[in-house]
Amino acid sequence: MSLSGPQWPLEKLALSPPTLDQLALSIHDGLQSNFRSVTVEVAQSPDLRQPPFHLAAEGLSGNPRVADVGGPLFLAPGPDFSKKYNLLSIAKQMEMPSDRGFILGAGAGPFHILGVNSELMPNVSFGAAACRGEEVANEDKLSNQTYYAKIAENDSYTCEEINGSHQTTDFALMANLLGTDGLPGPLLHIKAKSRLGSLNFTEAIQHALKATYGKKLISLGGVFVIRSGAAKMHVMPDFPPEPFAKREDVAAWLKFFDMPAPLVCLTVIHSGDDHGLSLRMEHTHCFAPGGGRGGHYHGDADDTKDDVEYEAWLNVAEVLYRIDRPGLVEVTVQYDFQ
Ligand code: ZN
Repeated sequence: MSLSGPQWPLEKLALSPPTLDQLALSIHDGLQSNFRSVTVEVAQSPDLRQPPFHLAAEGLSGNPRVADVGGPLFLAPGPDFSKKYNLLSIAKQMEMPSDRGFILGAGAGPFHILGVNSELMPNVSFGAAACRGEEVANEDKLSNQTYYAKIAENDSYTCEEINGSHQTTDFALMANLLGTDGLPGPLLHIKAKSRLGSLNFTEAIQHALKATYGKKLISLGGVFVIRSGAAKMHVMPDFPPEPFAKREDVAAWLKFFDMPAPLVCLTVIHSGDDHGLSLRMEHTHCFAPGGGRGGHYHGDADDTKDDVEYEAWLNVAEVLYRIDRPGLVEVTVQYDFQ
């Protein structure tokens, strides 16, 4: 795959993550206070292309890295319509090799392609990571299983694969991404059932890590499935006729829905001090396999909290890339705080 395109301002931070075994202990202790039944282990991942996960690559292992691209400040005040990005050129800026890679996460859809603002669930593999079974590794192969969700004419929502009618790896405004070689390997395997507390699944993980590691920056990414219950989600409508004057205008503009399981959720979660990089500390977008439902995850619905069931496969990043941070001009900076 030829990974090229605009070079956005970039800051790079080498992380020094705890081991998966250490993280498993921390997350287990934390989740127990928020869910009735919890298991956390380090296990060899199954083929995550298969149901119920529907990822574009077999696994989440091999050089795990995260990126935070743009940000909500490009939506409001604004929007800034110059912020048009491409997942493959961002992969290059994340120093991913051109012959094998997998990117997943949460972002804003490419308004300039779709003609409307939307929620994006990036899920793209390329090169050897996009090839199956006996297939000869092909550097030009692309598997784009990205979904997007938008507001429909009747103020309801729709969600479909971006490859259905639009062949694009573009996005806009913001995204939080996990990049890996897409290989199988050991990952955090988390199961949690019946929510007792007020924290949602990703908040409970953040609280667990904060309790163990305090300000140390830890960045996780991967997939979780909501197997039963329902999720509270928002979907961004199309841009308003007048630009947003301030950030606070966005909350009243978003449309909220409860969407029933099953949902596949793509997530990036940070814990600790963001070292002034204006990181979005958590960003999760979910889609229903086959489409129809999808959006930005806020938690599971209170009226299904007894029934809710989560299953996650997560990896921990070794490197963080802050790309096109709002307010930053053309620089490339490398940090090594830890
Ligand atoms: Zn979002």
